[in-house]
Amino acid sequence: MNYAGVAVNSPGSRSIFCYAIPPRLNVNIGQAVWVPFGSRIVQGIVRELSGEPAVEETKEIAGIITDLPQLSPTQMEVARWISEYYFAPPFDALSLMLPPGFERRPITWFQLAAPYSIGSQTDLSLASEERQVLHVVRGKTKTSLPELEIAIGARKARQITDQLLDRRLITKTLEPEPPRVKPKTLPYIRLIADRQEIEAAKARLDKSRAYRQAELLEFLIRQTGPIPVGEMRKHLTCSPATIKELESHRLVSVERVRVRRDPLAHLSFTPSPPPSPTSSQQAAWESMEDAIVNGVRRPDRPPVFLLFGVTGSGKTEIYLRALAKTVGAGKRGICLIPEIALTRQTVERFASRFPGRVAVLHSGLSPGEQFDEWHWIAEGNCDVVIGPRSALFAPLPDLGLIIVDEEHEWTYKQEDKSPRYHARDVAIRLAQLSGAVVILGSATPDIGSFHKAQQGEYQLVELKERITPRGYSPLPEVTVADMREELKAGNTSLFSRPLLTAMKDALAQGEQIILFLNRRGTATFVRCRSCGFVFRCPRCSVALTYHSAEKRLICHRCRYSIPVSPTCPRCSGRNLRSLGIGTQRVEEEVTHIFPQARVLRWDKDVVTRRYAHEELLKSFRDRKADVLIGTQMIAKGLDLPEVTLAGVINADTGLNFPDFRSGERTFQLLCQVAGRAGRGVKAGKVIIQTYSPDNYIVEAAARHDYLGFYHKEIDYRRRYNYPPFSQLVRLVYSHVNEESCRHEAERVCRLILEEKGKEDAIDFNVIGPVPAFALRARGRYRWQAFLRGPDASRVLSRLDLPRGWTIDVDPVGMV
Ligand code: ADP
Ligand code: ZN
Repeated sequence: MNYAGVAVNSPGSRSIFCYAIPPRLNVNIGQAVWVPFGSRIVQGIVRELSGEPAVEETKEIAGIITDLPQLSPTQMEVARWISEYYFAPPFDALSLMLPPGFERRPITWFQLAAPYSIGSQTDLSLASEERQVLHVVRGKTKTSLPELEIAIGARKARQITDQLLDRRLITKTLEPEPPRVKPKTLPYIRLIADRQEIEAAKARLDKSRAYRQAELLEFLIRQTGPIPVGEMRKHLTCSPATIKELESHRLVSVERVRVRRDPLAHLSFTPSPPPSPTSSQQAAWESMEDAIVNGVRRPDRPPVFLLFGVTGSGKTEIYLRALAKTVGAGKRGICLIPEIALTRQTVERFASRFPGRVAVLHSGLSPGEQFDEWHWIAEGNCDVVIGPRSALFAPLPDLGLIIVDEEHEWTYKQEDKSPRYHARDVAIRLAQLSGAVVILGSATPDIGSFHKAQQGEYQLVELKERITPRGYSPLPEVTVADMREELKAGNTSLFSRPLLTAMKDALAQGEQIILFLNRRGTATFVRCRSCGFVFRCPRCSVALTYHSAEKRLICHRCRYSIPVSPTCPRCSGRNLRSLGIGTQRVEEEVTHIFPQARVLRWDKDVVTRRYAHEELLKSFRDRKADVLIGTQMIAKGLDLPEVTLAGVINADTGLNFPDFRSGERTFQLLCQVAGRAGRGVKAGKVIIQTYSPDNYIVEAAARHDYLGFYHKEIDYRRRYNYPPFSQLVRLVYSHVNEESCRHEAERVCRLILEEKGKEDAIDFNVIGPVPAFALRARGRYRWQAFLRGPDASRVLSRLDLPRGWTIDVDPVGMV
């Protein structure tokens, strides 16, 4: 007997389970199988094979889901690394690489155990609900649990079926639910007879006045091949009977043909040749060329290039060139982008260089599109895959290059669910296992990445000049507006005098403006100026945000909301004031001051529909608006050539945030926003409004001085032993009861410290436990602790944290 170690699809299951392989099944590593798990049948992926069982009693694998292994050895290896490094359940890691729609749950079905008739002894002995269930079950060959749940309620359905099972009146089987996505097929019609037969048939049909049939034959003769029936109907009226008739005479045939749901079908691309590189691009390219063209020399250490180039310095051109060379060498590439919203911009540029050879993968696609795109990629039909972090797991054969654009972006870390992986780090791992090259690109590299480049772990490649239609151009001039001075001068508006003047000028010149605000909603919170009361979410304890459109206070964590009241619930005073500002406030103020300006607002509240991002960006790029007001999203690599003015409404948001990374994040945001201005024919201007103009972050951003910022920041990290000088692990425990939550958090922290005492080889300290920044979320309390040390996560492999704990290795933030 042989045995398989299987990762099972059961939430939170951290182990590999051993199953016996029945001789009739041919099971390999990477194969998807059905296995019994508890009382259920679940999906699993075979991770290892052995001749010996790992435990005394093993169950047998119930069946095979796919004949061929679902995952390649490289994918298996990457998944293993993710699950070990990030302490994630093995199936969670594997599921990143499974085809869309793969995951299916088992469904319970019931059947009568023996023939059963109404009015019989048994029937009369039953309670009315039992009888009700039996009558349903009796009517069909099999009845699913969900059907019964609808008929008599979820709890009752389980209870009654259990009773009937106990009395052996029904039996139960478990089957996987039907697949949710399937290949799409369309009926295609074509001629199957030869020319002579057709002509003879046409003459016969004309004679017997079957004009419709004759017409259809005539139409099909003019086609070059099979044509979708739907398409054919656009050209002529033709009933199913007409087609049937011709089919029965073996003149035409109708067959279902698999079609691709193409997510790019709504876009059109004009192929464009690459520009000749500028001298700095040429120099940058030469340092990368050998690895990309001739392949990786030392597979144990893949070349990772950190392409550090100011905004608009032509990094994307380098990516395109590297891809072209990769494809030329018979390989393919993946390009990761930080936001789904940027897909269109990137796809347009890449697809015009690689017409018909670009695929996209992201959660914004319909399930059918995801399914088709995934298989399209797996079958080797494209050279380039573009998408957010999950696109890294595209089943692209012959992987030769991975590009991580805007590599400093925090969206590359999956934070909200397991596995909590960082796509940049997984990309490097994947490259190492598949012999591919990695290019990390940014104008404001992650502090950790730049440190690695300084240490020689990554190869630093620089692009120092910005390219515009004016040739090499300096970065836009930045003015820092001191908001304290504005207040002193009696200006209480959201906009400083320099910003107002600049906006007026830009609008007069017909130029475009972007205004950046690190927030959404109209106000951060509403406070009573008399007693200090602040409206908070009763479930999450965070301050509620005022939304002027709905006139409601909304919790941004759980969507709890209440209407705005005119009086304070605590002191009944009428001095409620909204503090802080949001994009709606900015919009109101812009329209108030510049009534003729056309304003677009871009934040998550506006952009909820599919393609809404694309439409909004397109209408701004097509100059249908003068001012674009936005939050973080407008700081992410947008190329808007007509923008000449970028205004930062309040640079201080985030500066005082209690997180060691808040400085880095603020600097990156400021630089990225500043980088949006002046990318076109005209020079750009940036105005940063702040209450702390002397802050080194604001100063460095105003000088576009990444290196100056880096040196200060890395000193601070070294002094306080923060990453990259240590590893951080965040542990969060959540529970509905506040006391239990705190107790468990304290218990585990004590346990960790005891473990540390046992073996002094692990050097780390424990920060906390403390209540999490938002103590409550979705009705549960949350406490957290951090481990900090050179190899802090290692201690966790010796502990088995109970349910309710989440582990986040290398968290992107502390709050
Ligand atoms: P980045 O990715 O660094 O922001 P891009 O690659 O988008 O920079 O380049 C900025 C602008 O310069 C784009 O409009 C691009 O078309 C243009 N550009 C880049 N390289 C060249 C080149 N070699 N010749 C002409 N224009 C170029
Ligand atoms: Zn809430």
